[in-house]
Amino acid sequence: MSAIYFHIPFCKQACHYCNFHFSTSLKYKAEMLEALTSEVFLRTDELPNEPLKSIYFGGGTPSMLSPTEIETLLNSVSTHFSLDSNVEITLEMNPDDYAPNYLKDIKSAGVNRLSLGVQSFFDEELKLMNRAHTAQEAYLIMDEVSRNFDNYSMDLIYGMPYSSVASWMKNIEIALGFTPPHISSYALTVEPKTVLENQVKKAKVELLDEEIVLTQFNVLVEQLTQKGFEHYEVSNFGQEGFHSVNNSSYWQGKPYLGIGPSAHSFYDNQRSWNINNNKKYLEGIAQGSLTIERERLTLIDQYNEFIMTGLRTSKGVALNDIQARFGERFAGLFEQQLEKHLLQQNLFWDGDTVKVTQKARFLVDGIASDLFLLNR
Ligand code: SF4
Repeated sequence: MSAIYFHIPFCKQACHYCNFHFSTSLKYKAEMLEALTSEVFLRTDELPNEPLKSIYFGGGTPSMLSPTEIETLLNSVSTHFSLDSNVEITLEMNPDDYAPNYLKDIKSAGVNRLSLGVQSFFDEELKLMNRAHTAQEAYLIMDEVSRNFDNYSMDLIYGMPYSSVASWMKNIEIALGFTPPHISSYALTVEPKTVLENQVKKAKVELLDEEIVLTQFNVLVEQLTQKGFEHYEVSNFGQEGFHSVNNSSYWQGKPYLGIGPSAHSFYDNQRSWNINNNKKYLEGIAQGSLTIERERLTLIDQYNEFIMTGLRTSKGVALNDIQARFGERFAGLFEQQLEKHLLQQNLFWDGDTVKVTQKARFLVDGIASDLFLLNR
């Protein structure tokens, strides 16, 4: 199972919490599209020779591309790679990019799944985060998408400054009214070098109390599982048959090829990442080369990643799998390090598999890193 990810490095405006790579200038858009197709060609040997299960347009804002531009990128992939007959082709879309016919045209171009950056159905929260869309646009796009696509996901952010448990429950209720088959929901985090970080430092924005954020997370899990969603990864909820193929392939350590500035790739225990600068990326491709860094994972790196992704997903970490992949010594160390978290009821045994308890799911990253081994 392998996948291709396109990073489309353009946005209309910068959301205050975002530290992804993008430019608000479209000056190099045409060159960028050409460079992306060239990169696909340059890296054909960086995936195993097997049909692709997923193609994902992320960013940035991929819905700033026209249906024809999306089709050009998809053609560049199908020229050099074979596609599985059920390949999942996802496009991240922001509500303000909706236009009559856009959904129909991207569907004809090949897109069969949408991931909608709704984040909130309240104007005051959207404004506070400097999102480019309004609540009304969020309603409109959800309405249109639910009528035109079977497979789509909605992104929602909890932990918004000045929100409450009640306002968050209202957001969830509105979201569920559209019966989406998949929801991804993340806690707002303050990333370095963002406007939000600056606002918090200058006390212009007050962050939400952590207890309330935790309650919002618990409410989210409760409401969605009651509606039949499987909480299959800490931030992801899907109805049966609608789990994201793309994300699942990352969590299962499958190979993926990231195309575009700042995109990451993984294959054959090697991680690589493109430069996060549009101009330098374009200069490299113009000379027929990649501006890229690569790193080979040690056995310990692989083990740590296996623990992190296993605990974040509902699958958990099976002792048998550790023995088979990393040997008896790693399995022994794993069992030793679990003790504290078993006693604190952060983790539990489900047969031969270790999973995170519901009460500890919010803290899973910290628990997983506590089990990491160190490279010496
Ligand atoms: S639209 Fe997405 S990628 Fe662009 S600034 Fe906002 S959060 Fe970041």
